[in-house]
Amino acid sequence: VYNFSAGPACLPEWVLTKAASEMLDAHNSGMSVMEMSHRSSEFQDIIDTCKARLKRLMNIPDEYEILFLQGGASLQFTMIPLNLEKHNVDLINTGQWTKKALKEHKKLGKVNVVASSEEDNFTYIPKIKQEDLSEDSDYVYICENNTIYGTKYKELPPHEGKLLVADLSSCILSERTDVSKYDLIFAGAQKNMGPAGLTVVIIKKDLIGLADEKTPSMLNYKTYADNDSMFNTPPTYSIYICGLVLEWLETQIGGLENMEKINRKKAKLLYDYIDASKLYSNPVVPEDRSYTNVPFVTSDKNLDTKFVKEAKEAGIVNIKGHRTVGGMRASIYNAMPLEGVEALIAFMKKFEEENYN
Ligand code: PLP
Repeated sequence: VYNFSAGPACLPEWVLTKAASEMLDAHNSGMSVMEMSHRSSEFQDIIDTCKARLKRLMNIPDEYEILFLQGGASLQFTMIPLNLEKHNVDLINTGQWTKKALKEHKKLGKVNVVASSEEDNFTYIPKIKQEDLSEDSDYVYICENNTIYGTKYKELPPHEGKLLVADLSSCILSERTDVSKYDLIFAGAQKNMGPAGLTVVIIKKDLIGLADEKTPSMLNYKTYADNDSMFNTPPTYSIYICGLVLEWLETQIGGLENMEKINRKKAKLLYDYIDASKLYSNPVVPEDRSYTNVPFVTSDKNLDTKFVKEAKEAGIVNIKGHRTVGGMRASIYNAMPLEGVEALIAFMKKFEEENYN
């Protein structure tokens, strides 16, 4: 099947095949990675290689630390305000994931929603100016790609004199990212990096160690930085698969520049078809459209339901839109091949011919 799930999402076949071939004997250990001690030299090699590949692929400068955590991207909604010295945040509200972040941040500090597209059901990215930011805020918080609504920042907001914190859960590794423009990036792995269970944080080293000393160890970035992300048992298998995904990106795709080209091509193909069709529409303003999550609807809810059902029968699965948007959503992360998008478009055409006159 072609799996258009927003996450956990499909993984490259190359990765799954390699993982299957190593299931009983990984790294000449005579066992699966699942069975390995995280203190073994074999696993140390897996985590070191994974980290080094991520640094190379994303061109992460030396002033940044890469941390492998658990708790999902959602735990970062709490860890960020706990770990940054001051907690006054200017947040741009672009959907469910900033609303959830807002709720948690509020428990620990002052939150100022500087802009929001909620009144238009989050169909665009609000553009702000430097003067819109609060005088006393410490950081600006954004969700760079809004998985549910299919919007994406094409340019980062101004944030002079403030830190920039960004949730890249659904766009990390889908394109080149200039890490030096951010102070903290985080992402749940289950869309573009590997299986659920792993969260990656890329943080400026000078922001580590600022948390209050009463901060629980497991919620303090310093604990992870000081212990090479192995203060306790890390999500070993997720890290291993993430390492394979990064290996695939380096050796099979040829890096993020190539990945970006492929992803742009996939997205353009799908948006062009939707825009030209009479039956389907995408609600997002064109300049803010996501390259990885493409929501679309027909004009009739019953037809949407029929679409989802018949698509499944045709091997196009997990295409149902989020309940707050309705209709359909095609998540076309890195592992979705061009052929998958072509198959989706072929199905959409056929469905349109059969159901629209
Ligand atoms: N942020 C974004 C942009 C997401 O898409 C998601 C999940 O879909 C989350 C945060 C929450 O991630 P998790 O389920 O790992 O906590």
